[in-house]
Parts: sequence; structure tokens; C-alpha cells
Amino acid sequence: MSRTTSVTTLREPAELVAHGLAPAADLPDLERVAARYAVAVTPDMAALIDPRDPDDPIARQFIPSAEELTTQPSEDADPIGDHAHSPVAGIVHRYPDRVLLKLVHICAVYCRFCFRREMVGPGKATALSHAAYNGALDYIRAHPEVWEVILTGGDPLMLSPRRLTEVMADLAGIDHVRIIRIHTRVPVADPARVSREMVAALKVKGATTWLALHANHVRELTGQARAACADIIDAGIPMVSQSVLLRGVNDDAAALEALMRAFVECRIKPYYLHHGDLAPGTAHLRTTLAHGQQLMPAGLRRRYSGRPRQGAGRSELSVGCKFFFPGT
Ligand code: SF4
Repeated sequence: MSRTTSVTTLREPAELVAHGLAPAADLPDLERVAARYAVAVTPDMAALIDPRDPDDPIARQFIPSAEELTTQPSEDADPIGDHAHSPVAGIVHRYPDRVLLKLVHICAVYCRFCFRREMVGPGKATALSHAAYNGALDYIRAHPEVWEVILTGGDPLMLSPRRLTEVMADLAGIDHVRIIRIHTRVPVADPARVSREMVAALKVKGATTWLALHANHVRELTGQARAACADIIDAGIPMVSQSVLLRGVNDDAAALEALMRAFVECRIKPYYLHHGDLAPGTAHLRTTLAHGQQLMPAGLRRRYSGRPRQGAGRSELSVGCKFFFPGT
């Protein structure tokens, strides 16, 4: 396949074929995948894909595959059990001192392994209405033990800077909320979105902002992505990393080492490394727990010095730095 450059986000399988990012013969299957799971590949991510490489690690993350049509018996639409810990719409309260606030249901890109893939994407019923947003704020106000609010979704940086400023002010206006942590893929997937106004929106009086960057392969940390992260960190916002161990993307010690070193070069503290969750249609991207555990002592810790993290939640591996937060 040869590729043509995209200037807009690719959302339809036919567009992926037209840009040389998927074979025409796969189109009927890819249409079936796209009918169930959202597709979006930003120009920045599309430009990183080598269409001559059938195993390209960026393509594996964003280009849909017919393998997604197969669901394993062990897979679940809510693989980490958000629903059971959701007292009101938009809130997940799993640990006493922190809540997730799922503000938006859209992302710049849709990752083929996403553990919320049944809940994110255009047209999903998980968008937070104005009334539900106010209900979520009321819940946080009524729970003084909530010290940290984690904005997730969807991708919170899909909000406009103006709306994000309002949300940050609403949260910082709650006395017991001291930390606002934002999980995002935008600085790598669409770095131009990290404008001066967006960076300003991340800062708020009365609470400390942390930003967790989701990236899985060193190639995602392009010059533009690194500049976007530098703008955020230079504004005084500390960043940590969040990665998923993915078969054919980063499931070897050399790939992980390159990724972790790139994070450190960007002043981003390596922090989370998750096993793939049991999301539907993602078996082809998951590694075994045994392989992940073997990668840690045998590979990464020998290449990358640091301390293992204790008491991880979810299916996390430690990557050898000092860790502050328990899992979400
Ligand atoms: S950016 Fe995050 S929420 Fe959005 S599709 Fe990727 S993993 Fe899922």
C-alpha cells in the first residue's frame, strides 16, 4: 500500500483505505467493526504509520482489524467494573479519597484496545448532560473524603479551553478537592490542540493539577508532542506517563526501554504500565500476564533503574520509578 497524507481526522474505513492505511479487501469487515466501535486516526498519528509495514506499532493501535469482531468469553463490556462503583452518572468512586469524573465520551483518536470502547465515541449514551454534571459536582461536594478528582472519559482535553476552565474552577471551588488529575492522549494524538489557552485552562487556583499522558510507543513522542508536553510542564504542571502493554506494539524490553527513556527526556515521570484489560475484541492485542511479569525483572528493571511500586491496583506492572498514586 502507498499512503496519501490526511489533513483531517480519518473516521471511516473507506477513508483509511483511500489513504493507504488499510487494504481494500478488508473494507467489509472494517465497516462491521466501525459499526460497533468508534474509529478516529488524527493526521499526526496517520503520518507516523508506515503502510509498507504490516506490523506497524502505530497502525496496530489505531487502525481497526477484523479480529475485533471476535469476542472471547472472558471479555466484558465493562472490564474494570466501573458500573458497580458509579453512584451517580459520570462518577466512579472506587477508593475513598478519589473519584473519576467522566466528563466527555469522545477522544481525538480511538484506540483499538480501549477498555471503555463500549462507552466512548460519537453517538454513545455516555455523554454527561448539564444536569448530570451538576449531579456529579453535588456528589463530590457531599463527600469530604474526596481529595483527588481524576478527569477521564473520553479525553478531557477534547473540551474547549473555555469549558475546561469552568470545570477546573468548579472543582477547585470545592474545599476538600486538592488534586485534579487529567488523563489524556491529546498531547501525542493531536498536539496542536495544546494551545496557550488550553495550557492556561489546566491551571487553577485552589487545587494542584497533574497530567497523565497516555502513550505506548516511542514514535508517538514526536517533536510536536514533546513541545506540547514541554509547554504543559513549563507552566508548572507535573506529568506522569500511562501506557498499556500491547502485543506487537511494545511487548519487548527494548521497546519499553525506548518509551520510558523518551518519557524521562520529556520530564514525564514513568508511572503506569497496564496489562490490556479484557475489553471485547481485543485479545489479539493483549499479552499474557506471565509475559508482562517476565518483562519486568528480566528486561526493563535491568535496563532502567528504579524502585518497583507496591500495591498496584488494576492489572498494573511497575516500571521502576517512585510512585505516588494508587491505581484508579
Ligand atoms: S484515548 Fe483513552 S479513552 Fe480514548 S479510546 Fe484511547 S484509551 Fe480509550
